[in-house]
Amino acid sequence: MIVDLHNHTPLCNHAKGKMSEYINVAIENKTKFFGITDHAPMDFDPKYRMQFNDMEQYEKDVLHAKEFYKDKITILLGYEVDYLKNHIDERVLNADVDYLIGSVHFLEGWGFDNPEFIGAWETQDIDEIWQKYFNTIEEMAKSKLFDIVGHLDLIKVFKFMPKKAVKLLAKNALIAIKNADMTLEINGAGFRKPIAEAYPSLSLLQEAYNLSIPITFSSDAHEPQQVALFSKEVIQLAQSVGYRECAYYIKRKRFMISF
Ligand SMILES: [Zn+2]
Ligand SMILES: [Zn+2]
Repeated sequence: MIVDLHNHTPLCNHAKGKMSEYINVAIENKTKFFGITDHAPMDFDPKYRMQFNDMEQYEKDVLHAKEFYKDKITILLGYEVDYLKNHIDERVLNADVDYLIGSVHFLEGWGFDNPEFIGAWETQDIDEIWQKYFNTIEEMAKSKLFDIVGHLDLIKVFKFMPKKAVKLLAKNALIAIKNADMTLEINGAGFRKPIAEAYPSLSLLQEAYNLSIPITFSSDAHEPQQVALFSKEVIQLAQSVGYRECAYYIKRKRFMISF
């Protein structure tokens, strides 16, 4: 895929392979803009992310790769940042990057997408969990701290589906995303998970299109072989609702390119 803006490195302790291996797969797949966005440090859940004192080396390494590969591909520097109240750190928000992805992986401290804590799904009303999740996405958008919404409907990962229509649960979140002028990623990682489809679903993407919310593409790769693995599927999904161009960011400014 031409743009692939969400990819990890082993610094987060749950990804494998060298940065150069990820980049080489992206080049083989004719990617023009490849974003490296490892999990930003945070004083919560530190074992699944880099530490604050890794930031400098991480940014140096990505910028070094940007220079090294500049004739073959444009490497972009970013972070995937958790929107988790009282744990969002200025050092990350003020980092000199191309863009920040805002993601919700925790609801009141519960890592709902982590198989380690899957048991908690049995103890709460599924519709309430979903509504809480999209309320948090809405808050994240309203914070205006981030450029891209990470995996909009990650809450579906284990296929615990709500009774209420997802469109209704996500309605205010999508309006907030539009008002914050954020970009939505179409993330292929969902194909590797029990839900076995992209984030977001076709019906949410259709809503986003109706609101003229821009999109981008991402592999969310945690190993080199996952780069561009579902590129055909995500591009087809975007085209099916009418999208013809996708976004990338340089120094927090959005640019659009046809795909
Ligand atoms: Zn990760
Ligand atoms: Zn994520």
